[in-house]
Amino acid sequence: MATFRIYGLIGFPVKHSLSPLMHNAAFGCLGIKAEYRLFPLKENELKYFLMNLSKNNIFGLNVTIPYKEKVLEYLDWKSEEVKTVGAVNTILVERNNYLKGYNTDGIGFYHHLRYGLKFNPKGKNVLILGAGGASKAISNQLAKKGIKTILIYDIDKEKSKNLAKDINLKFKSCKAEDVDFLKNVQFKDIDLLINATPVGMKKEDPCLVKKEMLHKGILVYDLIYNPAQTKLLNLAKEVGARFSNGLGMLLYQGMFSFEIWTKKRAPKEIMEEALRKANLG
Ligand code: NAP
Repeated sequence: MATFRIYGLIGFPVKHSLSPLMHNAAFGCLGIKAEYRLFPLKENELKYFLMNLSKNNIFGLNVTIPYKEKVLEYLDWKSEEVKTVGAVNTILVERNNYLKGYNTDGIGFYHHLRYGLKFNPKGKNVLILGAGGASKAISNQLAKKGIKTILIYDIDKEKSKNLAKDINLKFKSCKAEDVDFLKNVQFKDIDLLINATPVGMKKEDPCLVKKEMLHKGILVYDLIYNPAQTKLLNLAKEVGARFSNGLGMLLYQGMFSFEIWTKKRAPKEIMEEALRKANLG
């Protein structure tokens, strides 16, 4: 009889995650004897947990804040994407607890942008708010796909400077620049605005951009999906711009993780439907 396989999400906190819904729906649909669970872990529990995955029938993990970088030291193998971005969101557990690290955030974002929203980033100008893990994965992916310029804004100027420097070193066809103040950005030249900060998750959060900065021709993409409609997305709606929350990215990064773990094609419609049914605020 096939072993019952456990997959899951490690991070802290994880209780609001929608990943169990989509992955368990996919396992059910393909008749895979497996379950996706949430593993809220304290930092002092991380090493022991990762060292004993095979023993506990855990075959794969997603990784979220605050462990996307911390898990790197426990990996036996890293994908090119992980080496480039320096962060992990997917772990495949092979025999004898051999841990392989992947990052599907960048490719997940790109697939939703390119095939879901039909936006081709080639030759375009993007402004990314935030220079953390998700921003790194996305900016590297966009640079790889031929974006022309990447402006990066973060409250931590060291982070935005370093990310811009890193992109410029790796990609000759793309020009990255860090931004000190958003009021200095020529928004009329921006085709794509991405919020890759957590600002907007809480009701009382401010909006990092002002309405007059936006215009009809810009696509506004907020990585946040809960709430489904952030203040930033409301502004985009008011000016008549196209906009998207992060649910599409969640779906595609999850599909890529699912395929890494199971070597089977992820059932997109089933996973999408499971997310759609979630009661988001
Ligand atoms: P992260 O590594 O913590 O990066 C967030 C960055 O935003 C940090 O550099 C942070 O700086 C910066 N920041 C915070 N407040 C800011 C402000 N007021 N102005 C400018 N920059 C600010 O987090 P992450 O993993 O990249 O995630 C970012 C967001 O994307 C989260 O909301 C996460 O839930 C979402 N996300 C969504 C998906 C999806 O599938 N839809 C996937 C991944 C991530 P400090 O570190 O100095 O605070």
